Amino acid sequence: MPKLITLLLAIFVTSNIMAQDIYIHAGKLVDTKNAKVLNAQTIIVSGNRIKSVEQGFVDPASADDKLIDLKEKTVLPGLTDMHVHLENETNPSKYLQRFTNDPADDAFNSIGFAEKTLGAGFTTVRDLGGTGVNIALRDAIAKGKVNGPRIFTAGKSLATTGGHADPTNGMNRALTGDPGPKEGVVNSVEDARKAVRQRYKNGADLIKITATGGVLSVAKSSSNPQFFDEEIEEIVKTANDYGFHVAAHAHGDEGMQRAVKAGVKTIEHGTLMSEKTMDLMKEYNAYLVPTITAGKEVTEKAEIENYYPELVVPKAKEIGPKIQNTFSKAYKRGVPIAFGTDAGVFEHGKNAKEFGYMVEAGMPEMEAIQVATIIPAKILKMENESGQIAKGFLADIIAVDEDPTVNIKTLEDVKFVMKEGIVFKNQ
Ligand SMILES: [Zn+2]
Repeated sequence: MPKLITLLLAIFVTSNIMAQDIYIHAGKLVDTKNAKVLNAQTIIVSGNRIKSVEQGFVDPASADDKLIDLKEKTVLPGLTDMHVHLENETNPSKYLQRFTNDPADDAFNSIGFAEKTLGAGFTTVRDLGGTGVNIALRDAIAKGKVNGPRIFTAGKSLATTGGHADPTNGMNRALTGDPGPKEGVVNSVEDARKAVRQRYKNGADLIKITATGGVLSVAKSSSNPQFFDEEIEEIVKTANDYGFHVAAHAHGDEGMQRAVKAGVKTIEHGTLMSEKTMDLMKEYNAYLVPTITAGKEVTEKAEIENYYPELVVPKAKEIGPKIQNTFSKAYKRGVPIAFGTDAGVFEHGKNAKEFGYMVEAGMPEMEAIQVATIIPAKILKMENESGQIAKGFLADIIAVDEDPTVNIKTLEDVKFVMKEGIVFKNQ
């Protein structure tokens, strides 16, 4: 027996020494931390992490190591989209699919959406609401059963009765019932507490609330406040007990202010934000997640006859076109920004269009890249392992044809994607 143990130990030690490293030769490398573009770097990847980053093109140390030649490319850390919905994607039958799709249908569809997102260079996302399939999807991806980005999920969003994420909005009375905290509908401080704890039980990573009306729900107002102060305060307080941060969907100013004052971490869309609220966000260190792409896409689709229900069309035309301008004002006033698109409201995989819109609205290219890398890492408490290509960080690495600090639109055509040391795409 001791002989066998010695043999097994020898095999173990040898296989460890022989462990294959991946050497990536990067023509250019975006240093997100120091806001610089470096020339000729070698990234050495061991397992799922970056072992080191060396100057120049370093040859692999052993014959077992693998070389990936990206000398003609610009390499940058995997991107993060702080606002997606991976369970579904816009289409003219979407409102009907609430009645026809089973969770299993959504689950199979979500696999393709997750793959498209990863292929577009997004190695991390925050899923801000679905039916709960997004929790199973997160786990399947984490276990390597399905290809997709690392997911931080809110599970099912929290709303008030008739509010933006009430799952029975627009249904006939026989079907509406009276959803409560278990289904994500909150109408009191007690409900607020229970709804957060239910999300914890279901396996969510964070909480999403719909602080105001929204565009795509079958309900009249796009922007009225939908929670009382004490309800949001209770949600944030309870969420804190579980280490959750809270994201708040908000178009209208009053609901936004209530959410910021109650301590939510991110405001989604922020469409009708006043200067007073912008200053409050700076004071509370709350981030605006702009979703300009969703605004543009929804405005376009509202022109297609019967694409959206009747009640939705005027809201889309009113809110959609305003988002980019609000982003521009908020950015210039110094509001903290984190990259997010609302993909799912438009086709998955087009997430990087947001970069062009942010730059068009006045944000420099390097900063647009930072708000999709180091800033989300901070919000997601991954600042020591995500958002940079540096020693010890997770090997989430992408590459594009051009230097994105010169031509930001090159990010819309990602040629190489590695997530945690595994190559998903190399064109
Ligand atoms: Zn959304």
